[in-house]
Amino acid sequence: MESTATPRTVLVTGGNRGIGFAIARAFLEHGYRVAVTARSGDGPIGSMTVRADVTDSDSLDAAFTAIEAELGPVEILVANAGITKDTLLLRMSEDDFTSVIDTNLSGAFRVVKRASKNMLKGRFGRIILVSSVVGLLGSAGQVNYSASKSGLIGLARSLTRELGSRNITANVVAPGFIETEMTAVLPPEQQAKYLSSIPAGRFATPDEVAGVIVWLAGDDAAYISGAVIPVDGGLGMGH
Ligand code: NDP
Repeated sequence: MESTATPRTVLVTGGNRGIGFAIARAFLEHGYRVAVTARSGDGPIGSMTVRADVTDSDSLDAAFTAIEAELGPVEILVANAGITKDTLLLRMSEDDFTSVIDTNLSGAFRVVKRASKNMLKGRFGRIILVSSVVGLLGSAGQVNYSASKSGLIGLARSLTRELGSRNITANVVAPGFIETEMTAVLPPEQQAKYLSSIPAGRFATPDEVAGVIVWLAGDDAAYISGAVIPVDGGLGMGH
């Protein structure tokens, strides 16, 4: 646990499964007070689960209000909720594009905006946006998803410039191929293709992403802001 006397309050969006669940569990293991948003299911035992949809500002506002009443203001925000709607450009409907942007990019904007008010008041904040290696590399069949994930980098860097002097950092974590439900649905040929291009020669577990995020939220990472931290076994090197 970091050196602060009272444990800090963390919110992880999409904390009911996959990477978000692992992030919430890792923060709990390090002694933080943890809330998760979920549309369905629950976060890990010991966390507070609140219902919220990141495409809906009112539901987010209600979720923040409930968390603030129970655990205090959110000091560490992990914008993790995300979706894919993969298809080639010519087959991609406008809704396929805008709904992915609305969840992955606008959803992050909504939670960041709501959390930042109290971060500014408290003169402390750690904002961590979960992007993807494809936000930098691009990916055939993921025009919508890659655009949303690279948008998070501009978001974090602008936040760093706007809020940096108030002891608020904003960083991006860019995972490569992580074993979750999101990747389980990819065809075996595509999984094999990814595997052959990863220098580490394996996929990662959600816990390997979670550990980096807990570290970024701690005192040792206080001077890191506007950074893009890859957790990809070398897949995206050079960016
Ligand atoms: P999962 O599909 O396993 O989980 C996605 C999470 O996002 C779920 O908790 C889901 O909630 C939540 N979510 C989706 N839409 C909304 C919404 N509108 N409002 C609130 N919550 C929502 O994905 P992963 O755990 O694999 O991915 C987590 C993040 O990591 C995503 O941002 C993803 O893009 C990113 N990522 C994943 C990689 C991977 O290899 N798995 C690689 C790189 C990045 P619910 O269950 O209620 O739908």
